[in-house]
Amino acid sequence: MENMKLLKRRAFIRTLSYGTGALALTPYLAACAPKSTKKLGIALVGLGGYSTGQLAPALQETKNCYLAGIVTGTPSKAERWSKQYGIPQKNIYDYSNFDTIAQNDEIDIVYVVLPISMHKEFTIRAARAGKHVICEKPMALNAGECVEMITACKTANKMLSIGYRLHFEPHTQEIIRLSKERPFGDIKAIDTGNGYRWGSNADSWRLKKALAGGGGLMDMGVYSIQGSRYATGKEPLSVIAREEKLRPELFREVDETVFWELEFPGNVIARGRSSYNNNWSYLDVQAKKGNYGLQPAFGYGGISGKTPEGEMNFPQVNQQARQMDDFAACIMGNTPTRVPGEEGLKDMKIIDAIYRSIASGKKEKII
Ligand code: NAD
Repeated sequence: MENMKLLKRRAFIRTLSYGTGALALTPYLAACAPKSTKKLGIALVGLGGYSTGQLAPALQETKNCYLAGIVTGTPSKAERWSKQYGIPQKNIYDYSNFDTIAQNDEIDIVYVVLPISMHKEFTIRAARAGKHVICEKPMALNAGECVEMITACKTANKMLSIGYRLHFEPHTQEIIRLSKERPFGDIKAIDTGNGYRWGSNADSWRLKKALAGGGGLMDMGVYSIQGSRYATGKEPLSVIAREEKLRPELFREVDETVFWELEFPGNVIARGRSSYNNNWSYLDVQAKKGNYGLQPAFGYGGISGKTPEGEMNFPQVNQQARQMDDFAACIMGNTPTRVPGEEGLKDMKIIDAIYRSIASGKKEKII
């Protein structure tokens, strides 16, 4: 019953948007009408925690795109999602028949929300199936894989974006503005950390090197690395790093806590740390005329910030809804996304260098 209601509501909303297009045939309205009123269809690949808790709910709020399909290896999830979101059977795929999505005109964008070791494969398969792609962070296991993904999307003439939701968050956007305009003078140093305390679950893919590539650095550290880059507006040259393990029985294969110092041009040092053992979420910027920053800096909500002029006063937003709407608008308007695959590649080069530095015990160039 609920399902029927949902289907009817969706059909009504879609008719309404096509209807607006039909009205646009009258000359006066045509001048005011948006270019396209059709929402783009997104298929989520992998229905784990992030798809369930954040992306699917966000897709109920989006204006330029909607949840059109799913790709899952678990039939019971397919059934549940189909009922809950009114997804027709023909828009439901598993990992083996996924490539036939090429024939489905209702899917415009494939969103890869899988363990990191699967990002490359599904991004490339989606591009080859003629779909635009959003891939979750961190982009892949290493920079080499990122290059392959970028190349595949370019060859297929499809857009690739990384799930860097914070670029659509107002406090973060203010940090980016400050890095460009420098009202508080030159940036002297950055201090940033991101992490959480891992419980006792030893079975998660996040603790398996083959699936996750690494631990807290890959999962949480990528935000601090991003933060250092968007707060300075520059690219780092080298890094020195070390790791600390307090629960080696749990973190047998991957890093628990990592400390690093990124060297940016002009001797600006960004001290960073990532952890599966500490609850951190901050980005502090030391500038010539005073300090500013965010704390919490990297979560889904509750972002808060201060400058020498006082508290930042921006609303909390649905970051994921904004992120997906922006990508759909970029596709419709044929404009570049602010978070392309190249952004993911830059972060992966830094992560690769951090792991090299942990192994060598020396400063490593970012190449
Ligand atoms: P999760 O463990 O909750 O879900 C993973 C999904 O992948 C599950 O549906 C699982 O069934 C499926 N899967 C397929 N093959 C698998 C395999 N071999 N082993 C394990 N699972 C397999 O993970 P998640 O938290 O949803 O994370 C998925 C991706 O999203 C990761 O890349 C993660 O970094 C990213 N993520 C991003 C954010 C963000 O804020 N941008 C937040 C959370 C997760």
